[in-house]
Amino acid sequence: MADVKTHAGSCRCGAVAYEVDTDLEGLIECNCSHCYRKGLVLNFVGPDAFRLMADGPQTEYLFNTHKIRHFFCETCGVQSFARGSKPDGTQMVAVNIRTLTDIEPFSWTARRVDGRSFWGRGRKASRGVPSTAYSRSVGSLMTSPELASRWS
Ligand SMILES: [Zn+2]
Repeated sequence: MADVKTHAGSCRCGAVAYEVDTDLEGLIECNCSHCYRKGLVLNFVGPDAFRLMADGPQTEYLFNTHKIRHFFCETCGVQSFARGSKPDGTQMVAVNIRTLTDIEPFSWTARRVDGRSFWGRGRKASRGVPSTAYSRSVGSLMTSPELASRWS
């Protein structure tokens, strides 16, 4: 496992900037209607590992079960992070590692997850309960319980 390091990130214009302590392991990109459009590559960290350094105006965007609070900069439109909680109530921050400014683009590897099938199941998905049909369909993709353990 790689070492945990402090990384710096920001939106395009810099109105929103942050630091995050992470080993950059367990990165995911998701094919759901939201993540896929934005090209998000997410790293899930605890709230203590994330520090907002520039708190410029952001718009909060909610969809589906409204459990994940997606924020994007009102000036440049870039989403640097989202906030949510795991099924057990633990607060989590999902950092969009494409907004890290101190690593080379594409120096990371992300696992693809089938959020399009998973999150599309509405309330059932929000409880992190996979259907057998979904479990069969994902193949090598991350399974829904694994995804749910990171996020709900
Ligand atoms: Zn911005």
